[in-house]
Amino acid sequence: MEENEDACKLERDAIIEEIYPQFKKFGGFLRERGFNSASSGNLSVRRGDKMYITRRGSMKGDLQPCDIVELSLEKEDSGIVIASTESYIHRNILLQTPALATIHCHPPNTVALSFYYTMVLKQDYIVPIDVEGHYLLKKIPIITLKNPTGSKEMEDEIPKLLRNFNIMILRGHGVFSRGPNLTEAYNWVTVCEESATAIYKCTQLGMDVMKMQGQYDQW
Ligand SMILES: [Zn+2]
Repeated sequence: MEENEDACKLERDAIIEEIYPQFKKFGGFLRERGFNSASSGNLSVRRGDKMYITRRGSMKGDLQPCDIVELSLEKEDSGIVIASTESYIHRNILLQTPALATIHCHPPNTVALSFYYTMVLKQDYIVPIDVEGHYLLKKIPIITLKNPTGSKEMEDEIPKLLRNFNIMILRGHGVFSRGPNLTEAYNWVTVCEESATAIYKCTQLGMDVMKMQGQYDQW
């Protein structure tokens, strides 16, 4: 038994050593770009039947190896009490989509547009009007939930949407993205926020962004 535990610990330490530089890099990028407050957001990756996720309340701009928590994907795991409060959402995304990595963060222009689109424009998705966003994302869905933080509703609804989209928006909260690695999951976040920023600025200039949807092909 003890030998088994030692082998598991060695394996966990080796995986954390491998993935830590990625967590540190992308946690830092998210913080630098203002996509998270000091301790909000979370990152995770899958390795076999385990997931590795940021510790609850960890500082994403200054992650340490001890801020990465190992959790079983299949069984209840006591590590859940120190892992991110959104661990079950990450777990379901990793189990129900092709994702091997997921990122959750709060890009401000995207969050602002999630209110604007659903409450003013009455549309539950964003169609990017910039060239790259249009080409890469086509459409970004927005969902509105009664309990938009760490809830069972989120665990069910967010993975469902991410089966068909690489990134989705939870109204008034932030985004969840997925990819084969953190690099790609992070890329979707930046493309989404860049598109949201273009729409935000065009709206400030008095332009009708609804009329600009789908117009890119006709320029
Ligand atoms: Zn959040």
